Amino acid sequence: MIENPQLRSSKDLMDLENKHGAHNYHPLPVVLDRGEGVYVWDVEGKRYYDFLSAYSAVNQGHCHPEIINTLKEQAEKITLTSRAFYNSKLGEYDKYITEYFGFDKVLPMNTGAEAVETAIKLCRKWAQELKGYPEAKTKIIVAENNFHGRTTTIISFSNDQEARSGFGPYTPGFERIPYNDLKALEKALEDDHVAGFLVEPIQGEAGVVTPDVDYLRKAAELCHAKGALFMADEIQTGIARTGSLLAVCGNCTCEGHCERQEATYVRPDVLILGKALSGGAYPVSAVLADDKIMKVIQPGTHGSTFGGNPLGVAVAMSALDVVRNEKLAQNARKLGELFRAKMNEYIEGSKVVNLVRGRGLLNAIVINDSPTSDTAWNICLRLRDHGLLAKPTHGNIIRFAPPLIMTEEQLLDCVDIITRTLQEFE
Ligand SMILES: *Cc1c(COP(=O)(O)O)cnc(C)c1O
Repeated sequence: MIENPQLRSSKDLMDLENKHGAHNYHPLPVVLDRGEGVYVWDVEGKRYYDFLSAYSAVNQGHCHPEIINTLKEQAEKITLTSRAFYNSKLGEYDKYITEYFGFDKVLPMNTGAEAVETAIKLCRKWAQELKGYPEAKTKIIVAENNFHGRTTTIISFSNDQEARSGFGPYTPGFERIPYNDLKALEKALEDDHVAGFLVEPIQGEAGVVTPDVDYLRKAAELCHAKGALFMADEIQTGIARTGSLLAVCGNCTCEGHCERQEATYVRPDVLILGKALSGGAYPVSAVLADDKIMKVIQPGTHGSTFGGNPLGVAVAMSALDVVRNEKLAQNARKLGELFRAKMNEYIEGSKVVNLVRGRGLLNAIVINDSPTSDTAWNICLRLRDHGLLAKPTHGNIIRFAPPLIMTEEQLLDCVDIITRTLQEFE
């Protein structure tokens, strides 16, 4: 029994986790206790800028009052009914989210990995039922260095050895091709039984790897020419993070309410959302598609006890309201440009940082050291000391993804912390 957790120090709490929890993460040594907007506080009361935003799940900022109010109100009314019965929130949500993103139907799930699994199942069933592909030949193309979650099927098509090794036997039916390589996609699509192409518009976990401007549009065109589904995993890039409602919106800042005429816009056949869909208040994910695809899902074919629960969907509507009302895409775009401009100024005279890349407020700097060195980790420890939390991804890359409600003044303060810290490593 813990008598009074408030009296425990960071060290005690880290020891508790290490002793009693499985070691499936390697956290930065800081114990967070409270969050508000762009800030989080540790148990000793020290304040930090959050530059990870729970991997872009708290785009709306920590404990956004509107979202938390919705959560409280709904929690006091009803939280879970299961899908054995109708509930009074789900229909409203289904209408809201399909209009928001412009699709006929939504299939609600909870975590990102579940939504990806749902998309895979949907794609396979669509190809087998409506196109007559034989089960054993149905194939989904994925990209090298992808990150789509942690289930057995998803890690089956990952090339991250840490994520894969020891977890076989693996699910068949996937082919991996290099990311941002249209020729490779064209070649892979020569197979007559490709059901779809599953891709991240920007590879977040791989280190914010941003493809050529026309890659996604052309990839979708190639898929469509071959009758394969173009499936966008926007779990990390979506919901205003990259300066538009979705990363596939390209340069459009309309928050999802224009005709999307931008030359770079590509409408995915299957859209996968998670993370910021709930503003970090509750696990909510979704798969969106039109009737001609979603109709293959019939009673008994798929489901989840918590998927579409009244608490989750109420929170999600509130979280999406905040994105639209507070114009978070526009803010992410404006601050992202400022951030990269400032970082580029610094990089000109830097030996430690090679480059900054990204879109909107999903950015990363590449440290001039081997991926196996601990330079990026040490920089993150110093950033922490200076009041800013970020974490390396793939060794020598540091991702910077603050909440999108940040002000320009706060961003400049953060740029100052980051450049002062980097200076110590020059
Ligand atoms: C985080 C993430 C997932 C997995 O989401 P979980 O909620 O952790 O299961 C899938 N795809 C992408 C692109 C992600 O960033």
